[in-house]
Amino acid sequence: MDERLEFAPCGYLSITHQGIITDMNHTFLYLMGYTREALLHKHIESIMSKANQLIFHSYFYPNINLHGHVEELFISLKDGSGGSVPYIMNGRSLIVDGVAVIDCILVQMSKRIDYEQELRSAKKQIEEAYWAKDQALAGLNQIHAEIQQKQQELMELNAVLVELSTTDKLTGLKNRRYFEEMLSEQLKLFRETGEPFSLLIIDIDHFKRINDTFGHQTGDHVLEKLGSLLRFHSREKDTAARYGGEEFVLILPDMAADEARLVAENLRLETQLAVWDTGSLTVSAGIATCADGDTGETLLHRADKALYASKEGGRNRVMHSLDLSRSSNHTI
Ligand code: GH3
Ligand code: MG
Ligand code: MG
Repeated sequence: MDERLEFAPCGYLSITHQGIITDMNHTFLYLMGYTREALLHKHIESIMSKANQLIFHSYFYPNINLHGHVEELFISLKDGSGGSVPYIMNGRSLIVDGVAVIDCILVQMSKRIDYEQELRSAKKQIEEAYWAKDQALAGLNQIHAEIQQKQQELMELNAVLVELSTTDKLTGLKNRRYFEEMLSEQLKLFRETGEPFSLLIIDIDHFKRINDTFGHQTGDHVLEKLGSLLRFHSREKDTAARYGGEEFVLILPDMAADEARLVAENLRLETQLAVWDTGSLTVSAGIATCADGDTGETLLHRADKALYASKEGGRNRVMHSLDLSRSSNHTI
């Protein structure tokens, strides 16, 4: 045999149409671990398992007889140590010196099968990784949704807490703390824009008597009702708050002295005309309108002085701090 065929990079076998091995190259013997003598004149099926013999019978011979050749037949052969070696086999029928023979070449498949297995296993690992990623993503989405839900709940709770912390429990009006915050905000706005605002203090007349005559509970009820009256008569932008005890305050944005007087007078009248568990009820009011250089303290002080003047003047009346300065000739 030609040396190059002897050592070709694939196995070579020549068989008769009955399957008897008549020649083989060195590469095939080397791959299979047989000696030349061990294979020569043996039937090719003697190195096949029953299953492979069946494949050989049903595919190899019919194709050789029909087309004269077979291509890429996948077949396993038993090697010298009893192991099974997978091959891709091509066969071709030809006439040599007037005798019909079948030449076959065999390319070992084990490496390719290993590669395929590696590929399959890599594919499986990728699929598993994708599955794990999807699971993790679904978990994350779930956690994200839960966090959003909790955040929403927290914000709602926070809003309730803020509302509670700025509200007077008895009357539902704003409390003193909130009022003080709003007052400094209004002063800041006044310094920026010069737009005047007024502050109104309202105090129930002879409230102690009401408590003493009708009891504390009725007193509370009167406070509640006056709170509703103030809320009902204030604008959206006004701040109506309970300053403490039976004293109420109103911040009236964009309102100069004259208009504030009208508002206070209206509230005084509404209180007088309302129907009370205690019979009659009146309030006195003091007003101050902010001026340059004012602080919360100076403004409150002026409104308080005006209130005091209302009380002194006989109660159930309204006084503006400007009226005091005019009458007493003092600065506001
Ligand atoms: P004046 O016309 O001078 O304002 O007299 P007044 O009696 O209204 O004023 P005074 O300051 O002497 O009394 C206020 C009373 O208000 C005393 C206090 O018991 C009562 N008071 C303060 N807070 C509450 C409260 O939350 N509920 C009730 N029922 N009474 C309160
Ligand atoms: Mg009072
Ligand atoms: Mg008072």
